[in-house]
Amino acid sequence: MTADTVSDARPGVPAFATTGPKKLYLNGKWVEPRSGAYADSIDPTTEQPLTAIPVAGPEDIDAAVAAARQAFPSWSGVAPYERTTLLLRIADLVEAHSDELARLESADMGGPIGLTTWMVAHSVEVLRHYAGWPTKIYGQTAPSSPGMHAYVVRQPIGVVATITAWNGPLLQLVWKVAPALATGNTVVAKPALWSSLTALRFAELLDEAGVPPGVVNIVTGDGGVTGEALIRHPGVDKISFTGSVAVGKHIMETASRDLKRVTLELGGKSPTIVFADADLAAAAQGAALGFTAGSGEGCVAGSRIFVEESVKDEFRALLLEQMKACTLGDPLDPATTMGPLAARQHHERVTAYFEVAEQEGGSVVRVTEAPRGLFVPATLIEGLSNASRIAQEEIFGPVAALLTFTTEDEVIRLGNDTVYGLSASLWTRDLSRAHRIAAAIEAGTIWVNTYGVMSAGTVPFGGFKQSGIGREHGTQVLDAYTETKTVMVQL
Ligand code: NAD
Repeated sequence: MTADTVSDARPGVPAFATTGPKKLYLNGKWVEPRSGAYADSIDPTTEQPLTAIPVAGPEDIDAAVAAARQAFPSWSGVAPYERTTLLLRIADLVEAHSDELARLESADMGGPIGLTTWMVAHSVEVLRHYAGWPTKIYGQTAPSSPGMHAYVVRQPIGVVATITAWNGPLLQLVWKVAPALATGNTVVAKPALWSSLTALRFAELLDEAGVPPGVVNIVTGDGGVTGEALIRHPGVDKISFTGSVAVGKHIMETASRDLKRVTLELGGKSPTIVFADADLAAAAQGAALGFTAGSGEGCVAGSRIFVEESVKDEFRALLLEQMKACTLGDPLDPATTMGPLAARQHHERVTAYFEVAEQEGGSVVRVTEAPRGLFVPATLIEGLSNASRIAQEEIFGPVAALLTFTTEDEVIRLGNDTVYGLSASLWTRDLSRAHRIAAAIEAGTIWVNTYGVMSAGTVPFGGFKQSGIGREHGTQVLDAYTETKTVMVQL
């Protein structure tokens, strides 16, 4: 047992998870919610409460937005190199506490420790990536008429509200806070209620790093009260959202009333496409990872697996072997590859799809047993078409539809026959075909002979169609967090 672990929690759960009730981080101070409302934070492994999380109400949101507005002029005026230094300090602190943060996240949302450790390490890299930006945001001079000097500059937007999902809480927060700060914006961040703990611990680290009061404010709470007050607030200039399509559409509609800027990172139903010429063992490994990593609670989950008919049996056997190798158990155990789903309500939603599959005439294939509680084993659904609900709806659990195809044209048509367009993975040894299919599939990220690789901050990420609007990362990130200003001077 380490110093940050309390005796009344199960081994490995950091003390931060079981102390409380928690407070809101507003204007550099920890305060009780004016709403007086709290919700239980539940450990999905035991289904026992960990601590109490404030549910911020409209008055709390007013205070958070006011703090962010007040901090904006001075923060946006901070010299670029100072912002770099501060972001590097935050990265160092997150790195120094990476083990605690990973365990906190595993206890809070059930992700296996291997995955949460990677997510924290990735967050550190992303912070360091964005630390490099402030000193490299150049403007342009623009061609104009004689006697006119025209130039173009990027300026911060103002107060950014970040609203994130429960499946990668720290990573999603860092993906938004780091570029927002690098470009001179201030932030009001609302994590998902089911997994708020790493956001609150991150706020302590921001404080320790010396982030000025009001530059980042953390308001916990649910969607209906806290989120709604935030997206409607006239003092918010931009909303950066990660979550479901339904809520994304609602946010866009609400934001349209005063034309707040929006970036939407939404759901997916990504195809994994396996051609007969692929390295089938590698493809089976990638396909299994695609729907079992993080118990399938991933926006880029490869939940529709299309295999070329001629190799279906061979590939299926390899895929079942991979599914058999999944280890379900305590997410804090390093041997675990699949923890519990994040919440009882979500478990009910995911498992209800097994009945849907049977009603649609599909067969449900499992090769491992699940422990009691919120666990779901890797599950393959066979015998359905791409038009079935199983193949069209985002299940967000370790469930994939196994489908077949015979021609390139057919798999392109089927792969694109979805409202989503977040990602795809292709498996083939034919280089020309890989590029042809990559060009034809309507998705924001295409992985060829690999799955799920992320390159910290350097490659754009986002969705086609209903998987979202705008991009995080890459050079495109500047469009998400800055306004472009043209200045024309008569000489
Ligand atoms: P969700 O849309 O229910 O909730 C996401 C966030 O929105 C939460 O913080 C929630 O409290 C908040 N919210 C809910 N209603 C709101 C409202 N009326 N106003 C303001 N905020 C509101 O999604 P979820 O169940 O937490 O997460 C799962 C979804 O997120 C899946 O669809 C998944 O694909 C998606 N996701 C997308 C990405 C991506 O980068 N594209 C990454 C992770 C998850």
